[in-house]
Amino acid sequence: MRILVVEDTPQIAQAVSTRLRGQGHAVDCLASGVEAREVLAYQRYDLILLDLGLPDLDGTALLAWLRERGERVPVLVVTARSAVSARVSALDLGADDYLIKPFDPDEMEARVRALLRRGQGEASNVSRLGRLALDRAARLARVDGTRLELPKREFRLLEILLANQGRVLAKEEIADQLFSFDEATGLNAVEVYVGRLRRRLGEAEAGVEIRTLRGLGYLMQAESEVRA
Ligand code: CA
Repeated sequence: MRILVVEDTPQIAQAVSTRLRGQGHAVDCLASGVEAREVLAYQRYDLILLDLGLPDLDGTALLAWLRERGERVPVLVVTARSAVSARVSALDLGADDYLIKPFDPDEMEARVRALLRRGQGEASNVSRLGRLALDRAARLARVDGTRLELPKREFRLLEILLANQGRVLAKEEIADQLFSFDEATGLNAVEVYVGRLRRRLGEAEAGVEIRTLRGLGYLMQAESEVRA
């Protein structure tokens, strides 16, 4: 799993990251909230350990920013602020759990394990390809965490294509899944929706491509695979 530790006390950052790396995780450490925000704008993590008292951007501000973007990555708040109000506000802002300093490393590990388990369970609702993530539960598509606005039909088409990525889908198959029986539509409608979705994905630089295989159908791939 990939974990980000945002902590400005070097000894704590060191101790936590050593411990987590020992568990086989890939760990990035940042001492600045501003820097963390920059990295989180493009890098995906499975878990974030977040200190609330940071020198530049406060941990609560970073957390609020993250949740406003719709990022559901589990966040374990680590703080010396033992006041109930600070913990409550962190949880209200979307923290999944918290640890109060000084903490026992075994407890830290147990909480990290619990959050990672929970995160993996939810991950089954999210399909990813290129820079695109589609959350079936929340009915949202995102490109690098930024919401991609899609009309319902195009969202559904994207869902169908992602569920079949790497496989050629015939127009008929798509039409079957895209339209209900009482929506009498021809295969031309599939072409129209594919065209619209392709344009939107291109404009959003989603890093995916819908290839047309003449006479066969459509194939959704990450752009790197297309070039290869
Ligand atoms: Ca601190």
